Amino acid sequence: MILPVFLVELTALGLLLTHVTAPGITTRSLIDALTLTLLGVAHTEIAVRAERVRRRVTETPHVDLSSVWTFAGAVLLPPLLAAVVAVVVFTHLWWRAWRPRVPVYRQVFSTATVVLACQAAGAIVSHVVPHARDVGLGAGAGPFALVLALLAYTTINSGLIAGAIAVSSPKPTVVMVLGHWDENALEVATLCLGGLTAVVLAFNPWLVVFVLPALLVLHRAVLVRQLEEAASTDGKTGLLNAAAWHAHAQREVSRAVRQGGAASLLILDLDHFKSVNDRHGHLAGDKVLSAVAETLRSEVRENDLVGRFGGEEFVVLLPGVDDSDYGVAELRLVADRIRRRVEGMAVEMPTPDGPLTITGLTVSIGGAAFPTDGSDLTRLLETADSALYAAKRSGRNVVRLGAHARGDRGDRTARVSELDEAEPPAAS
Ligand code: GH3
Ligand code: MG
Ligand code: MG
Repeated sequence: MILPVFLVELTALGLLLTHVTAPGITTRSLIDALTLTLLGVAHTEIAVRAERVRRRVTETPHVDLSSVWTFAGAVLLPPLLAAVVAVVVFTHLWWRAWRPRVPVYRQVFSTATVVLACQAAGAIVSHVVPHARDVGLGAGAGPFALVLALLAYTTINSGLIAGAIAVSSPKPTVVMVLGHWDENALEVATLCLGGLTAVVLAFNPWLVVFVLPALLVLHRAVLVRQLEEAASTDGKTGLLNAAAWHAHAQREVSRAVRQGGAASLLILDLDHFKSVNDRHGHLAGDKVLSAVAETLRSEVRENDLVGRFGGEEFVVLLPGVDDSDYGVAELRLVADRIRRRVEGMAVEMPTPDGPLTITGLTVSIGGAAFPTDGSDLTRLLETADSALYAAKRSGRNVVRLGAHARGDRGDRTARVSELDEAEPPAAS
């Protein structure tokens, strides 16, 4: 992990050193660099509170709206000055808004990726439009050069960050590495604004001030979207929280009612979960909850709604799974697959006394299918909840479906007699 990071940083530094001997700096470019730096710093100062909140609520790669200034610098300024603008703007942003959540080593790495991206974007522009700094980028091959530079900038910057996340995370996911689609759209929008800033700056530096209000509004819009997302997510498991799950599920079931569509749902409750807490503590319990959530998500389809209903209870809505024999068989298959996955789980966690592995977890599951088991979401939930209690009564680690506990056939019914003897989860 350390070697590739150093390589990126050394390359950025090496490239800069090659420009020290031939900086090509003019008074005009110095004034442009100063303008971009001052606007970058002013932008951070005005948006610092929104930026701090944004850092706190999002886990995915973070799009820096400040790349408006660094990208404009990249395509307009000599490479050395472009790098100075990037380093000053990002160091100031880190100092004011990201410290101490973003450690120094990560900041140095991401600044190095920005410097490299600037160098590439600048090289492309000076290749396509050799005198861009004098003739501007608003006409001729300028816009084409801007598009190429934008692609190079975002590919290098996001690519290097994605690479670092991929090699440093124990279990990287696509979203973790590449970010959400709208984060990437935001990055491109920011760079487009940067391109316009460069065009305007060459034309009349005073006009660049008009970019600031647009940027600040963008800041607010992004913050609101990220807060909405955080407000609908359960912090411990990353699943939908109860309110958000209910709202989404309501929409799906209403659609099924209106259009004669299909939907089924499962309620899951971990068995004897209290004893996990009692034996190993709440932190271990939390680890188990997030491991179960991950298992759940991996066992259902992308468009199934998975939520944490509260405590150690989870819910899954499966749109399109109907109440026919075939649909019910599919629901049972999914539920039983989840049940067996949880049964086989080994949750590992470090403790002061050495690594702890929690095994012997089980889950009871109740299910219901629309419309046989309920003609609206509330009734479906009631039926699935009764089925869950039937599953608990018949010994736990069991799946029961529908009002008449259609799960009475199947391999787990044998446990009815074991009702009060079920083994609580163990540790090794
Ligand atoms: P049963 O098989 O009947 O479901 O038994 P149970 O122990 O799972 O159920 P009970 O409702 O008695 O206990 C649920 C426990 O879940 C009690 C509570 O301490 C624990 N719990 C609820 N929320 C959390 C949480 O966020 N973190 C942790 N670690 N424990 C939680
Ligand atoms: Mg419970
Ligand atoms: Mg329980």
